[in-house]
Amino acid sequence: MSRVYNFSAGPSALPEQVLHQAQAELMEWRDSGMSVMEMSHRGKFFSIIAEELESDLRALLSIPDNYKVLFMQGGATAQFSFIPQNILRGKTKACYINTGAWSEKAIQDAQNYCEVVVSASSETSNFTTIPDPAGWVLDEQAAYLHYTSNETIHGVEFSDIPESHGLPLVSDMSSNILSRKFDVSRYGLIYAGAQKNMGPSGVTVVIVRDDLIGVVDKQVPPVFNYAEQAKNHSMLNTPATYNWYLVGLVLKWLIKQGGVEAIEQRNIAKADLLYQTIDQSSLYRNPVESSCRSRMNVPFILADQNLDKAFLAEAEANGLFELKGHRSVGGMRASIYNAMPEEGVRALCDFMAEFERTH
Ligand code: PMP
Repeated sequence: MSRVYNFSAGPSALPEQVLHQAQAELMEWRDSGMSVMEMSHRGKFFSIIAEELESDLRALLSIPDNYKVLFMQGGATAQFSFIPQNILRGKTKACYINTGAWSEKAIQDAQNYCEVVVSASSETSNFTTIPDPAGWVLDEQAAYLHYTSNETIHGVEFSDIPESHGLPLVSDMSSNILSRKFDVSRYGLIYAGAQKNMGPSGVTVVIVRDDLIGVVDKQVPPVFNYAEQAKNHSMLNTPATYNWYLVGLVLKWLIKQGGVEAIEQRNIAKADLLYQTIDQSSLYRNPVESSCRSRMNVPFILADQNLDKAFLAEAEANGLFELKGHRSVGGMRASIYNAMPEEGVRALCDFMAEFERTH
């Protein structure tokens, strides 16, 4: 077996220790006599897995008691619709900040349920900046303010939590949750698909302040209703049990690494290394303004596009996979989530320098 360094944007690399543990426990979890995949979600063994999952996430993010933690299905994409359906609370408008492809999708889907006020947009800069919060035009009648804390495709990340001037703040943290410290109590709602920093696809985490939920139109199916799911510990129907278990293993791995603060320091070091390699070269370029460059997703273009194919082929020959940029922006993208070791980033930087030398 020879495992490669996998720079995929998601589903993405998982910690090797987690994969080994899942392998070791595949036939029998602890002393249960059965595989996690075979357990009743309401049985005594899976109840332990579910309880540890929630308590580990609460500990890692210091989630206050007045927040519900939900584990849902349908990906972050489903949340684009579930959020307005659940937290408009009789209001008719919601504010959104448009910083790239994922904000745009969130805006598009929310428009089916309410009037979307685009309070700021960086579209004119081709999504290479974050609009200055001092200039955001917020509507005080809005039910909430939504932003995407890390744009996975454009490689743009907020370094601070923006001021929401009294509106409940909602954030799509799909591609940077658990990668840096942030204060949950500043938010009304946080959501994230698992397949980048938390585990395999098929689980979506929603962390929501409890006063925001419960006022929902009858037409909303109960499985999409946050209050109903909260009441039922996200088990209104059969959850994605094995995926919950794997997310639980990733969280335990992260706790062993020293938690979010420790991994944040490593993420800073990894991102610095890669951006330095890009900035010092005359072949590679990252178009994002330096103050809002993502630590998780690093897009870069080659000065000569004719070299793209050779770059990708030679990278693969060197054990560096999934570096092709998103089809909408082209070029390359290296996703360096929590599970990517520093050696992987070093291997990429060394390869990039060598490729530049030989081409
Ligand atoms: N938001 C962001 C920031 C993402 O990166 C993605 C997926 N790459 C999504 C939402 C959509 O997630 P899903 O495919 O799980 O619905």
